[in-house]
Amino acid sequence: MHTIIIGGGLAGLAAAKTLMQHGHTFKIIEKENHLGGRVQTSQINGHLIDHGFQVYLPGYEEGIHFFDYAKLDFQAFDPGSMILYDDGYHEVVSDPLRKPFTLFSTLLSKVGSFSDKRRLLNLKSAAKSFCKNPNGLKKNTSTYEFLVDFGFKQDMIHNFFIPFFSGVFFDKNLETSAEMFLYLYDKFSTCLASVPKNGMGELSHQLAAKMPSDSIHLGSEVISINKKSVQLSSGQNIIGDNIILAAPAEKLLAKLGQSKQATFNHSHTIYFESAETPHTKKLVGIVAKKNSLINNVSVMSNVSSKYAPSGKHQLAVSIFGEDYNSDIEAQIKKECQAWFGKQTEQWKMITRHHIRKALPKQKTVKFDLSKEESQIGENIFLAGDTMINGSINGALKSGRRAAEFAMEGQA
Ligand SMILES: Cc1cc2nc3c(=O)[nH]c(=O)nc-3n(C[C@H](O)[C@H](O)[C@H](O)COP(=O)(O)OP(=O)(O)OC[C@H]3O[C@@H](n4cnc5c(N)ncnc54)[C@H](O)[C@@H]3O)c2cc1C
Repeated sequence: MHTIIIGGGLAGLAAAKTLMQHGHTFKIIEKENHLGGRVQTSQINGHLIDHGFQVYLPGYEEGIHFFDYAKLDFQAFDPGSMILYDDGYHEVVSDPLRKPFTLFSTLLSKVGSFSDKRRLLNLKSAAKSFCKNPNGLKKNTSTYEFLVDFGFKQDMIHNFFIPFFSGVFFDKNLETSAEMFLYLYDKFSTCLASVPKNGMGELSHQLAAKMPSDSIHLGSEVISINKKSVQLSSGQNIIGDNIILAAPAEKLLAKLGQSKQATFNHSHTIYFESAETPHTKKLVGIVAKKNSLINNVSVMSNVSSKYAPSGKHQLAVSIFGEDYNSDIEAQIKKECQAWFGKQTEQWKMITRHHIRKALPKQKTVKFDLSKEESQIGENIFLAGDTMINGSINGALKSGRRAAEFAMEGQA
């Protein structure tokens, strides 16, 4: 069986690897000149720059099917966050169950009331039960509504949940489904958010490593799909027994008389080089300051020393707005000065990544994909994070499932 896979992001690569493991051939057609889709790392002046701040959660269920964790050499953030408040005040809020010596500082922190901190423990078990049995939650509940119903006070929601999860969902109002929140809350509280030592791009490099080079066709855009063939923008037609569409599908599907709409949240990360490190912690700094431009700040070189050249440090600053100009750069440095001091004046911008279609808006999510949802027509199967949920796990699972459906009944 030979399958054409449109799109060489993690979903397309997961589909290809699944087919390969079962002895089938495939051709990945990717419009860019590189694989990986939304998970990329470039090298700039000795820095490893991920295309937008992102992390891998080693508790993702699909990871075991696809990655050799030891070779990725994950470098972990510590549990908890550094909370950056209005007046330059900042404090570390940890997970006392994983770092018992942080119990007192966490209990005394101003992030929320004592009862809210106790509620965090109940939330941990609620998230665990949800992952075991993802039914029972009222459909279409947003994360914000869920947190209020759970009893959290506004201080806790605004000092912790909104700053942290708006950076995860790229959604300032936490309109994202509470189901996605509970799924990720369980992952964040049971494993350590990590990056491969040599950058997030290693995930796709490892997936593609053993694939025959003639099964990957880069720099080719698919412009239409027929039953068993696809047409490239060059005019070339490629034929297969079936097709897995692991790329944004609207235009291609419209030509088949089908429709599938997805809307997205954007992300914007600005990278800086610094001669001094603002702190030595492996923590995401989340901004609880009202009307802040900045959402979060991480010193990437504290987490993996490979992210910056020797003697330098690298910061990833994620902001809410879409614009970038020298005023915005000055504003970022000024906001950061309140927490990290005058050294911010010396920070040098390396590059920035504004990704318009970073994550699908997720008012409803799924955790699996059925054949009926994936299959359109006799030989075409849909994959991609928009089919399940916006995460690396969702993308990998969609690709694996689409490949399994394509293999059913085939020799
Ligand atoms: C800044 C940012 C931060 C994120 N943070 C996290 C995080 O911390 N943790 C997490 O789990 N997830 C995170 N995500 C989400 C995760 O990266 C995505 O869910 C996942 O990578 C999506 O993979 P995909 O294969 O479904 O789609 P994509 O990666 O978008 O792949 C689709 C591919 O199809 C190609 N393509 C499109 N049209 C065509 C065509 N016509 N012909 C040929 N090829 C085509 C594209 O070039 C692309 O390579 C983040 C995403 C971003 C952008």
